[in-house]
Amino acid sequence: MKFQPKASHFINGAYVEDTNGAPIDVIYPATGEVIARLHSATPEIVDQALNSAKAAQAEWAAMSGTERGRVLRRAADIMRDRNRDLSVLETHDTGKPLQETLVADATSGADALEYFGGLAASLTGEHIPLGGGDFVYTIREALGVCVGIGAWNYPTQIACWKGAPALACGNTMVFKPSETTPLSALKVAEILIEAGAPKGIYNVIQGYGDVGASLVTDARVAKVSLTGSVPTGRKVYAAAADGMKHVTMELGGKSPMIVFNDADIENAVSGAILGNFYSSGQVCSNGTRVFVQKGIKEAFLTRLSERLATAKIGDPLDEEVNFGPMVSENQMNIALDYVEKGKAEGARLVYGGARIEGEGFYMQPTVFADVTDGMTIAREEIFGPVMSVLDFDTEQEVMARANDTEFGLAAGVFTNDLTRAHRIVAGFEAGTCYINTYNLAPVEAPFGGSKMSGVGRENSKLAINHFSEMKTVYVSMNDVEAPY
Ligand code: NAD
Repeated sequence: MKFQPKASHFINGAYVEDTNGAPIDVIYPATGEVIARLHSATPEIVDQALNSAKAAQAEWAAMSGTERGRVLRRAADIMRDRNRDLSVLETHDTGKPLQETLVADATSGADALEYFGGLAASLTGEHIPLGGGDFVYTIREALGVCVGIGAWNYPTQIACWKGAPALACGNTMVFKPSETTPLSALKVAEILIEAGAPKGIYNVIQGYGDVGASLVTDARVAKVSLTGSVPTGRKVYAAAADGMKHVTMELGGKSPMIVFNDADIENAVSGAILGNFYSSGQVCSNGTRVFVQKGIKEAFLTRLSERLATAKIGDPLDEEVNFGPMVSENQMNIALDYVEKGKAEGARLVYGGARIEGEGFYMQPTVFADVTDGMTIAREEIFGPVMSVLDFDTEQEVMARANDTEFGLAAGVFTNDLTRAHRIVAGFEAGTCYINTYNLAPVEAPFGGSKMSGVGRENSKLAINHFSEMKTVYVSMNDVEAPY
C-alpha cells in the first residue's frame, strides 16, 4: 500500500507493531482507495508508550531550555525541508488540496516547533521580594507526561501545536491522532528523533476513542490536551477531573460572522469563503452563521455565488484545485443530511447542496439564505461546506443573536466603521475574534474557545502556562517566631 508506515506506533524512538489491535484502514478521500492499514493500540502498547514517556521525562526536563529548544528548532527546519513530501502525505490522509497542505499543515507545525523552541530558553520563575528581607522565588516546572488527542482536519498541525509547547516546558508526550488520519503524526515523531530528541519524549500511538479514554484515566498522565468535538470534550474533561489532571480543550463551534452595510463587499465575501469553504468547511473556527445587514444582502449573495462558481473542484494533488473532498464518506453524509434539514426547515438554497457524483467524497460548496436563528443548520456544528446566511437590521439586534449559542470559539465582523468594529468584538462571547478578515491562526497569537468551545489556549506565550506549573519557595532571612 502506497503510504504504509513501517508500523502503527512510534514508541521510545522506534516503530512498534502489535497486530492484535483492531485494524484501522486509511482511506484516500479523493478516490476511496485504502492507502495504509494500521492497528489500534492494545493495552500493552498503551502501557509501553506511557512507560517510555514517563522514563524519559526527568532527563528531558533536566536539560537546559536552550538544549531543548535547539531540538525543536532543528525539527522545524527538517519539516520545512520536507514540506512537499509531508504535504503530499497530508493530502492523502485528509483529502485537502495540495494547494492548502503546502502552506497550512507542515509549515504551521514547523512554526510551532520554531516558536516554542525559541521560547524554551526563556522560561523562568520569578523573584518576589517581601518585607524584612524575606523573599519568595518561583520555579517553573514541567507537569510530567502529557497526552495529546487529535482531530482529523489538521493532523500535522495538531500534533505540533500540542507537542511543541509540551516539550519546550520539559514534559514528554503520548500523542494519539484521530483514527481517520493517523499517518502524519508518525512523521512528526520520526523528525524529532532525527533532530536529536532523546528517545521517548514524543510517542505516537494509534487508536479509536477507547484508546484515548484509557490514556486520559491513566495515573501516569498529568495533563490532557484534546482537539475534538464538544461531546468528546465533555467526556474527556470529566474523566480528567477525576484524576485532577490539567486540561486544554479545543472543541467545536458555530461561529458568527457579521457583515455590515458599510463593509467592503469583496473582502467580506472573501472572508466568508475562507471561513466556510477552506478545507471543504472542516475547520473548527469557521464562521458558519453569516449575518448580513439587509441593505447589502442581495449584492453579497450575488458576488458570493459568482465567486463560488470559479472554485476549482477536483483532484487534490493538482495544485490548481482549491476545493477537495470531505475527509470521509461518513462526514460527507453528515453534511448532506444537514442540507436536507436546511431545505425541510425552509431555508433558501442559493448555491450547491448536492454530492458530486463519481469517485471520492465530494460535495458542492453550499449556501443557504433566509436562515433563521432557530433552524438546525444555524444551531448545530456541521463541519462541512455549508454556509448559513441570516439577515439583520441593527447592531444591537445582531450582537444578541450572534452570542445566542452555546459555542464561543471564534467570531468576526466586517465593517469600515472603526469604533463599531471594536464595540462589536468587545461584545463577542468568543475566544478568537477577527476584524475585516477571518480564520487566521498564527502561532504568536492565543487560540481557543469560550463557553462550550473549550478550556485553555493553544499557541502564544499563554500555552506555556498550560504546560507548566509554578513551585513557590519561601525563603526566610530571619529567625522563626513561634507563639510558644
Ligand atoms: P471527535 O470528538 O470525534 O474525536 C476527536 C478525538 O478524540 C479523536 O482522536 C478520537 O479518537 C478521540 N476520542 C473519541 N472519544 C474519546 C474518548 N471518550 N476519550 C478520549 N478520546 C476520545 O472529533 P473529530 O470528528 O475527530 O473532529 C471534529 C471536531 O473537532 C469538530 O467538532 C471540530 O470543531 C473540532 N475541532 C476543534 C479544533 C479547535 O482547535 N478548537 C480544531 C479542529 C477540530
